[in-house]
Amino acid sequence: MKFNPEKLSIRDQRMKPFIDPGEIWDLLNNTKPDKARVREVIAKSLDKNRLTMEETAVLINADNPELIEEIKEGARALKEKVYGNRIVLFAPLYIGNYCNNNCRYCGFRSSNKEASRRTLSDEEIVTEVEALEDNGQKRLILVYGEHAKYSAGYIAHTVKLVYDVKKGNGEIRRVNINAAPFDVEGFRTVGEAGIGTYQVFQETYHPEAYKWYHLAGKKADYNWRLTSLDRAQEAGVDDVGIGALFGLYDWRFEVMGLLRHTNHLEACYNVGPHTISFPRIKDASTLDLDKKYEVNDDDFKRLVAILRLAVPYTGLILTARENHDVRREVMRFGVSQIDGGTKIELGSYADLKNEKQNLNREQFMINDARSLAEVIDELLDDDYLPSFCTACYRLGRTGEHFMEFSVPGFIKRYCSPNAAMTLAEYIVDYADDDLAAKGWKAIERGLSRLDQDVANRTRERIERIKKGERDLYF
Ligand code: SAM
Ligand code: SF4
Repeated sequence: MKFNPEKLSIRDQRMKPFIDPGEIWDLLNNTKPDKARVREVIAKSLDKNRLTMEETAVLINADNPELIEEIKEGARALKEKVYGNRIVLFAPLYIGNYCNNNCRYCGFRSSNKEASRRTLSDEEIVTEVEALEDNGQKRLILVYGEHAKYSAGYIAHTVKLVYDVKKGNGEIRRVNINAAPFDVEGFRTVGEAGIGTYQVFQETYHPEAYKWYHLAGKKADYNWRLTSLDRAQEAGVDDVGIGALFGLYDWRFEVMGLLRHTNHLEACYNVGPHTISFPRIKDASTLDLDKKYEVNDDDFKRLVAILRLAVPYTGLILTARENHDVRREVMRFGVSQIDGGTKIELGSYADLKNEKQNLNREQFMINDARSLAEVIDELLDDDYLPSFCTACYRLGRTGEHFMEFSVPGFIKRYCSPNAAMTLAEYIVDYADDDLAAKGWKAIERGLSRLDQDVANRTRERIERIKKGERDLYF
């Protein structure tokens, strides 16, 4: 599809704010979730169609337990249909926590004088990445505070540095970033460094609430943040991730905001976000919030299921902010990526001192501190196929050309075999005997679900991996 500026509505102009709280509240207040309508909307999504704002409001307003169960069941079914059983694994790497902003919910906020501030030196970044490679990681997301130290040029430098670290058979094949928004030129600079996804969360889509939480610094400008992905697209960074921090404002409004943002990107650039994140507020040093909008576990599960149905083709990311049990359950509703072996204290991957979590050194508290091997072990028990695949990004299958879901059979031809091959690499290079035995069985199970020809070609490549070849993909 070619971009046609004539077709843009007044409501979706490039670089223009697009959130109208009145519109969102109208939909939430006036949409009736009768049984037949809810079922119709679920069926539309199961046919792999994107839902409209009104249809999403129908699901949000369905609060009778029977309908909530049907929504969750729909999300489970859609996940099977669209994504198969693979789960992509990654780890965050915090580079620096200096920050000029004063976000009430964050341990790195400028008014937190207790925070110990640090930026990893180049040598420390290399050591951290080596430790991550020794664990078997292949995909990282680099995280930064917002500070003059972390210019686009510096961030581009750290991205290149990470790509250059090779230890044994280890290498990082995809570096995503979560950093404060840049201007167009800045996006160009980080784009040229070869970033995978640029991720930025609006935190809350409600302008008044946003103002209350963001007390100082560049981040206090709601519209600058809201239009950041327009600037990314203008600069050619077409692989972007959005998110909302749940617990700041009414979760129902935020789900609608995420959908509105997706619509805007699709209308203006013919490409929606690659991923949506839905972090929930966790304890942080000097947290300054009331609990009015806290999202309980039941609503959290509901909102993930609704997001899955609303945007069948967008990846959903669930992080170690959530505890093990919540992660295990929520994953079933359509999560496609999780982090494993996560540590968010600066410098902690390579740190041999096994110190307890210390909130003065972290942005917030994580609740799933299992190692990558433990996470993989459980995924295998639950019949998932853990994947470190980076093929699409490296073959230029991104943005408008990101065909994962639009080409029939894509998952079976590419994603599943690539998951199997990257898992095979992990087993050969990093797994102990028990995990290896479990992993090979899972690979066989996965291959048996593929067409004969693809399965055979994958088996042939896995034999080559066993003999020492690396980085094979379709
Ligand atoms: N400083 C950049 C920014 O604000 O965009 C980089 C990202 S920040 C280090 C990563 C994300 O963590 C934020 O966008 C926010 O959604 C989330 N976050 C901040 N405080 C949190 C908390 N207490 N609990 C859970 N997530 C939090
Ligand atoms: Fe700084 Fe980001 Fe934390 Fe806000 S959320 S204080 S911008 S690190």
